[in-house]
Amino acid sequence: GLPVLAIIGRPNVGKSTLVNRVLGRREAVVQDKPGVTRDRVSYPAEWAGRHFMMVDTGGWEVDVKGLDRSVAEQAELAIEQADAVMFVVDANVGPTSTDERVVQLLRQSGKPVVLVANKVDSDQQEAEAATLWSLGLGQPWPVSALHGRGAGDLLDHVLSVL
Ligand code: GDP
Ligand code: MG
Repeated sequence: GLPVLAIIGRPNVGKSTLVNRVLGRREAVVQDKPGVTRDRVSYPAEWAGRHFMMVDTGGWEVDVKGLDRSVAEQAELAIEQADAVMFVVDANVGPTSTDERVVQLLRQSGKPVVLVANKVDSDQQEAEAATLWSLGLGQPWPVSALHGRGAGDLLDHVLSVL
């Protein structure tokens, strides 16, 4: 089958927006509130002539403790089924304890990981993205899934590890 790219990260960081950006259409459901994407949804995608599957994740619970556990569980399943992973963090929020847990899962998996610093809508926010070096996953890729800023460079890089 096609190579599988999983998109993981906490609710509201912009995973579904990023999926739509790559697909070039609004297919993945974007919401202001978490809990909209149920479990894992696969979309056939194409970039620079390469075909692959993108797996959008969600299905989070609402209360904070449950949410944390749910993120980790979803991440674990998605990582298992993926050939490479895009780990999305909101650059304006920075890394949380949930993100640290996901980093452990990613390390254990040994799979290629691309760290996405999303919601970098302007040059001024690039500094925020740089703080994500602290996660120890290598270079954070600053993008704006909403406006498309940096998305081309990100996808070129993703294809190089997929
Ligand atoms: P998900 O829960 O991770 O799938 O996040 P969504 O894609 O549903 O997006 C959550 C919210 O963040 C929505 O209101 C999006 O419009 C917003 N959002 C997503 N990407 C960006 C971005 O690059 N910049 C800004 N400013 N907002 C974004
Ligand atoms: Mg979503």
